[in-house]
Amino acid sequence: MRTSSLFKRLLGVERAVIEGVDFEGSDLVVRVRLHKRQQRRCSRCGRRCGLHDSGRGRRRWRVMDFGTVRVWLEAEAPRVRCLRHGVVIARVTWARAGSGFTYDFEDQVAWLATNTSQSTVGEMMRISWRTVGRVLRRVVEERRAGVDLLDGLTRIGIDETSYRRGHRYLTVVVCHDTGRLVWAHPGNSRATLEMFFAALGEERRGRITHVTCDGAEWIHDTVRSHCEEAEVCLDAFHIVAWVNDAVDTVRRELWNEQRRSGDKQLAGEVKGTRWALLKNPENLTGHQSGMLARLEADNSALYRAYLLKEQLRLLLRQPVEQAIPLLDGWVEGATKSGLASFEKVARTIVRQRTAIEAMLRHSLTNGRIESINAKIRLIQRRAYGFHDPFALIALAQLTLSGLCPPLPGRGRA
Ligand SMILES: [Zn+2]
Repeated sequence: MRTSSLFKRLLGVERAVIEGVDFEGSDLVVRVRLHKRQQRRCSRCGRRCGLHDSGRGRRRWRVMDFGTVRVWLEAEAPRVRCLRHGVVIARVTWARAGSGFTYDFEDQVAWLATNTSQSTVGEMMRISWRTVGRVLRRVVEERRAGVDLLDGLTRIGIDETSYRRGHRYLTVVVCHDTGRLVWAHPGNSRATLEMFFAALGEERRGRITHVTCDGAEWIHDTVRSHCEEAEVCLDAFHIVAWVNDAVDTVRRELWNEQRRSGDKQLAGEVKGTRWALLKNPENLTGHQSGMLARLEADNSALYRAYLLKEQLRLLLRQPVEQAIPLLDGWVEGATKSGLASFEKVARTIVRQRTAIEAMLRHSLTNGRIESINAKIRLIQRRAYGFHDPFALIALAQLTLSGLCPPLPGRGRA
């Protein structure tokens, strides 16, 4: 095999000529030139164009390392004048428009970002996490062009999730049938959700039969005005979140009361019950079960709160014909409980009754949207360093929408 052919194979560079290879310090720089027919093409549409100018001269692109050696491609990067896109940088066959990395390099970054930790990606590929964010946006944009995630939707879940401190939110839409994240956008307002329905279009809006969501009015209103036929169901895990909050309120009140009365030991005990109270009983440690047993023996308000929480959580798992009378009983019990936070939940349940019954009737209590939400929260934590909600969305879509490319050279996904 000739050396130039060998280099082209190793670099994944086709339709180009290797002009020379040199070390610069410990880095290898491979100089290349596109074949004549590949030169002067628009980087956005690929059309042949007239030359505008030589741009900023020669440019470099990171290629996958050769063993331990960092490798760069170097080539001319002139600007061309496209009839449709104006003055743009000319296309190269080895990299996405605007990128300083080759396709293979970026695909590997995307694969690693969805499969390993933030620090692993950065250290292994020798790039910053913010650069990773920019790579992910390019990869996802390209992968999204090849597949319409909004096709075939009938049962969807809509949720809002905060992505940074200071109340910055994303609106996310998942498909209940495939379990995929199908849409996400910064913002949590009617205007944000309108964008989703606009992208969906009238015909596909008409095929939506069920929409699950939290109790937020702006979601309910927007859904009703765009999908008249769809049934709005409340997500079971939001209801569970309400009672978890209510238990926590009771616990904090009791703790403050005991601290004020100077009973430090009791206050400390109450403080320590936090996780025991919120956990499902089957996940409790022996120590936590002991704490709950002591609360029970004291017949404290906190234990009543715990029981109400558990009752509601369990009744939501029952078949609809059993769940509905149980729910009526629960609302009555909570209203008379003397616990203000539970009385409030009871009022909310009465107000959202139709959407709760719809959820129970259609068994849309599955943990799918909850598990996607949990995964998005994990991704959010990793994505803090991006400082860019669209990079977070890109990482979420690579991971949860089936858009992650395979590792370079391992066949198509
Ligand atoms: Zn063009």
